[in-house]
Amino acid sequence: MFHGRFLEKRREVKAVVRKENRIVRHEMRGGKGDVYMYHILPQEEMMGHGRLFARIVLPAGSSIGRHTHEGDTEPYYILRGNGIFTDADGSRVPVGPGDICTIACGESHAIENTGEEDLEMIALVLFEA
Ligand code: MN
Repeated sequence: MFHGRFLEKRREVKAVVRKENRIVRHEMRGGKGDVYMYHILPQEEMMGHGRLFARIVLPAGSSIGRHTHEGDTEPYYILRGNGIFTDADGSRVPVGPGDICTIACGESHAIENTGEEDLEMIALVLFEA
C-alpha cells in the first residue's frame, strides 16, 4: 500500500519537526541565578560553522557572566525584556527588543536582565573562518 510505504520511508529519516527542550544553567559563566537554554540546533547539525544556536531566557535579576569568545563570535538578538549588555571594552549598554548585540571574534561580553520581566534572546555562536 502506498500509505504504508510512505510511513516506512518517513521512519528512516530524522524528524524534521521536534519539540524544544529546556536546559537550566545555574550561574552561567559566573553570572547570577538561573538561565534557560532552548537549543535550536545541536552543534552536530551546524555543519561545522558554529557550536550554539539557541533561544535563551534570563529571568529577572539573572545574568550570563563576562566571558571571552576565542575563535568564535556570538551575536545576541533581543526578543523581549530589558537588560544591560557589557561590550568588549567594558561599556554597559541598555538593550531591549529588536537590539542586536555583537562582538568581534576573540572579544568578551556579558548580559544581565535588569528589568522586571524575562529577558529573551536568540544567540548564535559562529566559528571564525
Ligand atoms: Mn557568549
